[in-house]
Amino acid sequence: MIPSFCPGRCNNAWRVAEAALAAEGTPHDIPAIWGRPVHCERCATRACAQLAELPELIVAIGLEALHGTGPRAAGVVGRTGRVASPSWPGQAARLMTDHIVGGLLELEDDVRELRGLGMRPGRGTEVQNAVGAVAFLTAHLEWALSEHPAALEAHDRMSANPAAQIAGWHRAAQRFTGRDARVEHYCLPCPRCDLLTLYRGDGEDYIECRNVSCQVLLTASEYQDHSRELAGALNV
Ligand SMILES: [Zn+2]
Ligand SMILES: [Zn+2]
Repeated sequence: MIPSFCPGRCNNAWRVAEAALAAEGTPHDIPAIWGRPVHCERCATRACAQLAELPELIVAIGLEALHGTGPRAAGVVGRTGRVASPSWPGQAARLMTDHIVGGLLELEDDVRELRGLGMRPGRGTEVQNAVGAVAFLTAHLEWALSEHPAALEAHDRMSANPAAQIAGWHRAAQRFTGRDARVEHYCLPCPRCDLLTLYRGDGEDYIECRNVSCQVLLTASEYQDHSRELAGALNV
């Protein structure tokens, strides 16, 4: 299989820069990261880890329903960006669980059909269904990340790329359960879109712009250069 540029988040900044190059001729020196053969090793490892964490996160979402959900839970549910307002206690948790478990089962069915495998077996409870789907998808992850028809699609919220879907469920679950609380919000505006949307998640290497139409990634030293430039501009 011929290697391609990794469609994962590692190439977000490169894709934005390439789009600017194509549209306005703005040159850039951001290197692209190659896949092995499609996703790079880091993006593939991340997808595997996120998948493994989903069953526990699904249980944690269920516990939120029992112990009450705060207004934070009334967030955006689903890849379509549909905003759901919970009308009864626990409804937000229900919607989130349906979104993630439903998505996992749909992806499992999709892979089974594409690979000519048998029908998904009945597994009992919702959590057992989710655990079974995660085990199945883990076994087929290498195929899903390189040979699934959507494996080459750049990751974004609407992408059918299996790795992007897994990342989306993981992120939604982490936000829902407040696990992404250790996110640093950076106080300078984004060098690309000028919004105050620069964040770095716990353990992440890059500072990321969470403006969905920008999504630039900066290294710590690029952020420092940016802050020096801003400081310089203010001193003239
Ligand atoms: Zn990658
Ligand atoms: Zn930005």
